[in-house]
Amino acid sequence: MPYTCPKCGAEVEAPIKTWVLAPKGRKGVVIGLFKCPRCGATFRKGIKTQA
Ligand SMILES: [Zn+2]
Repeated sequence: MPYTCPKCGAEVEAPIKTWVLAPKGRKGVVIGLFKCPRCGATFRKGIKTQA
């Protein structure tokens, strides 16, 4: 599933890094760090996990 760069709108296939953000008492969310191949911007997005 491609993600979209917020700056230039290019599609980014996969995150360069992922981690889990898990506030206490809440279900964790997976965050991905993306780097746009077109403009070089980095951005974070929540990743939908199957479950
Ligand atoms: Zn971009």
